[in-house]
Amino acid sequence: MDCLFCKIAQKELPAEVVFEDDQVVAFKDIHPKAPHHIVIIPRAHFATLNDVPAEDSPILGELLLTAQRLAKKLGVAEDGYRCLMNVNAGAGQTVFHIHLHLLAGRAFSWPPG
Ligand code: AMP
Ligand code: ZN
Repeated sequence: MDCLFCKIAQKELPAEVVFEDDQVVAFKDIHPKAPHHIVIIPRAHFATLNDVPAEDSPILGELLLTAQRLAKKLGVAEDGYRCLMNVNAGAGQTVFHIHLHLLAGRAFSWPPG
């Protein structure tokens, strides 16, 4: 499958990996939108959130728990951080392998742009 994030997960493409286990891989975003910007992906390929069947719902929790742990490790858990997932092009998704963005280290506005 010609998927950028599958290739990163399989080490076929380089990335600054900050955490990985048997289910998820987390790496630094190549175009960071905040002082800390980490992309957290499942090893399994799902193009968008819409494509995750109910029986695979545990992986969605793993993405969030990985963000929680990384936020603590980065020392931003108490100050605040943002987790978000863009779903389809209308929301800004550009890589069609689901990923959770973890952003921290600056103030964030609400609502997002
Ligand atoms: P999205 O727009 O939600 O699909 O997010 C995709 C993210 O992946 C963007 O923030 C990109 O900067 C990031 N990205 C694209 N290619 C790479 C790469 N090779 N390594 C790390 N991050 C990447
Ligand atoms: Zn993929």
